[in-house]
Amino acid sequence: MPIAKTIAYTENYRKLVLPGAAVETLQSGMLWAEGPVYFPQGDYVIWSDIPNNRLWQWVPDLGPRVYTHASNNRNGNTRDAQGRLISCCHLTRSVVRTEANGDQTTLADAHAGKPLNSPNDVIVGPDGAVWFTDPTYGIMSDYEGRRCTPEQDGCYVYRIDPQTGAVEAKVTSLKMPNGLAFAPNGKTLYVADSSRSHFSDGYHHLFAFDATDTSGELQNKRVFAEIEHGVPDGLRVDVMGNLWISSARGVETYSAEGTLEGYIELPETVANLCFGGPKRNRLFITASTSLYAVYVAVSGHEF
Ligand code: MG
Repeated sequence: MPIAKTIAYTENYRKLVLPGAAVETLQSGMLWAEGPVYFPQGDYVIWSDIPNNRLWQWVPDLGPRVYTHASNNRNGNTRDAQGRLISCCHLTRSVVRTEANGDQTTLADAHAGKPLNSPNDVIVGPDGAVWFTDPTYGIMSDYEGRRCTPEQDGCYVYRIDPQTGAVEAKVTSLKMPNGLAFAPNGKTLYVADSSRSHFSDGYHHLFAFDATDTSGELQNKRVFAEIEHGVPDGLRVDVMGNLWISSARGVETYSAEGTLEGYIELPETVANLCFGGPKRNRLFITASTSLYAVYVAVSGHEF
């Protein structure tokens, strides 16, 4: 079990990581691991293997097991305040919620009367609204879903109104919106644009928006960070407001001011991560074919 290789650019980063902590490989052999989410009520992690059409579950002391054999090519996952799993499904081009009895409730599958592209990542905001991104990765081929012609005019970031269930496009100016997260105070929304993955002139940037409007209107779009290594995919914030962002070299940490603090080097390209464990101080990282875990010195934020 290798000791985590932490590269510090700032003194502050040394307070956020544990240089003596080990990186554990919890499971390998997946085709593309994504969408980790921690469930405190059962102390377990759920994540996706998109091409293999599976959801996995990892439980301490028990290990991994296939949780769902037919996941509709699920990608990003999150948990709402009631402890329910909310997932982005490429195959059905929808965002679904798994109820306590196992029923699947479709929260979104269309905008402006036309099918979505392929919902990618999803979060729950401070007011309970579900936000998700809708790039075309899941309909570009049959590998992670089903090849389809996009019917939307673009790749948008959507908000599902917590009262009415209306699906509204809130960001229409990005190319391939991907991972997203709110700052701990709920007043800034961060969205990754990973369009350089398929377009040489695409973005590999994290954008920030002011999110102070109670109806979910966003203002003051700006570039927050440029990810040099690969593209940013999923991200999370800690209780201090730092951002933990996936990249081709590992998990990069940025301060709320946009300073690159340092990174945890990993042997595979990282797609996503979440904070978990009873103290929320353990990073669970989906990286290409593997699920890794490493303890850090700060806890993750959750609404
Ligand atoms: Mg993603």
